Amino acid sequence: MSEPQYKRVLLKVSGEALMGEEAYGIDLNVVQRIAGEVKEALAIGVEVCLVIGGGNIFRGLKGAAEGMDRASADYMGMLATVMNALAVQNGLEQQGVPTRVLSAIPMTTVCEPYIRRRAVRHMEKGRVVIFAAGTGNPFFTTDTAAALRASEMGCDALMKGTQVDGVYTADPKLDPDAKRYERLGYMQVLADDLKVMDASAISLCRDNSIPIVVFNIHETGEFGRVLKGEGRATIVENEAA
Ligand code: UDP
Repeated sequence: MSEPQYKRVLLKVSGEALMGEEAYGIDLNVVQRIAGEVKEALAIGVEVCLVIGGGNIFRGLKGAAEGMDRASADYMGMLATVMNALAVQNGLEQQGVPTRVLSAIPMTTVCEPYIRRRAVRHMEKGRVVIFAAGTGNPFFTTDTAAALRASEMGCDALMKGTQVDGVYTADPKLDPDAKRYERLGYMQVLADDLKVMDASAISLCRDNSIPIVVFNIHETGEFGRVLKGEGRATIVENEAA
């Protein structure tokens, strides 16, 4: 059996991924499946922490577009990520995986506040850490939160679980000739405005030399395969010198 290529990773799952076939909210079957993917990764010896988005419940930009104050709308978006984090924690615990939710917005009756050293300690003890409430600041995204936490936790890769198996030259659902990139440079992603993650997230990963691995989170067993370098994915990393 091949060895995993990374020792510690951060898995970013968008809120939309948790919706499954629903139009809104959380599909608990999908949550269980994603929890199963994380459990498998732990079983092959990879330490995993998570950032979950909130777009299945509330997006700040949408609230702002409808007339809300942007900062207030963003705080609602961050609270949405806490709900998702609790759902994923529940899914993991039902599969016997010890998990802690650490929120960037302190709400100590619900979960622990985010303290970097505490998060590191949890991971060293074999617990899965879920970082909730994004960065804790409005005007940011959970992609940027994922890049930030991956940097803080010394992760070897940011695993971006999406609906498709990588980054394509065009939308593969619309264009049959679309080709999947095997590898991309951070600068190419920024220059060509490829929709991998937002620019601040890409820049943060670039500054800290954290590869971004884009793969399909809905394909059963794929997370483990990609961690072993066997699955289908696009890797965004430093351009060859
Ligand atoms: N958000 C924020 N600051 C952060 C992270 C998230 O204000 O650091 C808000 C923002 O309004 C965003 C919402 O939370 O629209 C949900 O996060 P995101 O859109 O990144 O979720 P995803 O697209 O991954 O589901």
